[in-house]
Amino acid sequence: MQEKSTAVCVYGPVPSRRLGFSLGIDIIPAKTCSLDCIYCQLGPTTKKTLQRKEYISWKKITSQIKSILASRQRIDYLTFSGSGEPTLNSALGKLISEIKKITSIPVAVLTNSSLLSRKSVREALMEADVVVPSLDAATQEVFINLNRPHPSLKAEKIITGLKKFRQEFKGSIWVEVMLVKNINDSPSHIQKLKEVIEEIKPEKVQLNTVVRPPSEEFARPLSSEELEKIRDAWGENCEIIAEFEKKIQIPREANQEEAILSMIQRRPVTLSDISTSLGKDKNEIRKHLGALLKEGKIKLVIHKKIKYYEPI
Ligand code: SF4
Repeated sequence: MQEKSTAVCVYGPVPSRRLGFSLGIDIIPAKTCSLDCIYCQLGPTTKKTLQRKEYISWKKITSQIKSILASRQRIDYLTFSGSGEPTLNSALGKLISEIKKITSIPVAVLTNSSLLSRKSVREALMEADVVVPSLDAATQEVFINLNRPHPSLKAEKIITGLKKFRQEFKGSIWVEVMLVKNINDSPSHIQKLKEVIEEIKPEKVQLNTVVRPPSEEFARPLSSEELEKIRDAWGENCEIIAEFEKKIQIPREANQEEAILSMIQRRPVTLSDISTSLGKDKNEIRKHLGALLKEGKIKLVIHKKIKYYEPI
């Protein structure tokens, strides 16, 4: 069994745009994914695979979850997401059912949908409360250009898998659509996506665009006006994922620098993100960021005139 290099599989709780205070559960080694999306905020995929296996043992993850639950912090969702595609871990179903034995906090799974055509993957998700599958492409051509999938993956099969999942799954499905300028936002493609999503019948459709530094510089965002136009045309259950409200939570990590580093290792973050998440003054955070920059543990990247901190 290949174990994740970092010992920490569970992180947060962090304020999330959709899920309130979300305890992140990362069950895949960094950038092990079936796709290599041009907009990925985690950088290029280093291991593109469709192989499901127990990359990290369910026992190890469950014990980390138990110890965080014992600290009695506010947690609104236990969320499988992180640095790769969670459905690639063959222990996902077992993990969800173990969580259900120890807490009533709802479980959410963020997935890129690529493996939903497999019965075993759909079954693994059955006990989740919310599944957030991504669907950015309604055609194989857009799928290849935008999501750069494993060569065996077909957009049509993924869409069929999503429809089957809808029929079988009793929880909520929130389809996330990442829109990228001149890649999947043509009027004809937007119309095709709308039709496909109507057939899937999710509870919600969430529109997103390239806000954080992408894997490829050419991945450009849509404007808020363009997103609003699409939302208005897609109907009532469609929303734009806005920036989360400012919420304060004291982190479980006693060491501020470790807490900051842990956030940065998950995704590019701004000074405000860190300050809000940790409930600390910006000046104090600045001091720690300066030290981490000096030690060469993080780097500063400017994207759309906004400063982001990223891991080296
Ligand atoms: S955005 Fe998600 S699905 Fe796409 S490459 Fe990154 S981790 Fe994989």
